[in-house]
Amino acid sequence: MNKKFKLTSARKAVLEFLEDSSFHQTAAEIHQGLVERLPSLNLSTVYRSLDYLIARQLVSVADIGRGSPVYEIVSDQPHHHLVCLNCDHVYDLDHATVEYLFNQIEADQSFEIRTNHLVLYGICESCQSEE
Ligand SMILES: [Zn+2]
Ligand SMILES: [Zn+2]
Repeated sequence: MNKKFKLTSARKAVLEFLEDSSFHQTAAEIHQGLVERLPSLNLSTVYRSLDYLIARQLVSVADIGRGSPVYEIVSDQPHHHLVCLNCDHVYDLDHATVEYLFNQIEADQSFEIRTNHLVLYGICESCQSEE
C-alpha cells in the first residue's frame, strides 16, 4: 500500500483485516473478526471506518446477494463477479473480460466509469445442467 492517509487504529485494523482476508466480508464479519483483538470496537465504528476507506478508494463495496453489502480490498486490477441465483456461488470475472465493454461505454457516452467491482447475476453452468 503506497497511498498515504492518516489512519486511525480502527481504520487501520479494518484495512488490515480486509488485506488478510482473501474474500468478501460483511461489516458484521469484519467486526466479529476484530473484536477479540480490539474489544472496544463497535459495529458503527466499523461502518464509519469502511465509509472512510471506500471514499479513499482503498476498499470496495458490493451487493453480491448476501443480504448485507460485502467489502473487499481494492487491488491494482479491478475484478468482478458472476453470482449464481440458484446455488449462490460467486465466480470471479477478470477485468480483461469487461474492459472492452467499459472502454466502449466510456467512449460512446463520454462517461468515466468508476465501478471497480461489477456483479452480474445468473445461473451457473452446473445449475443449468440440473434443470
Ligand atoms: Zn470481489
Ligand atoms: Zn449455480
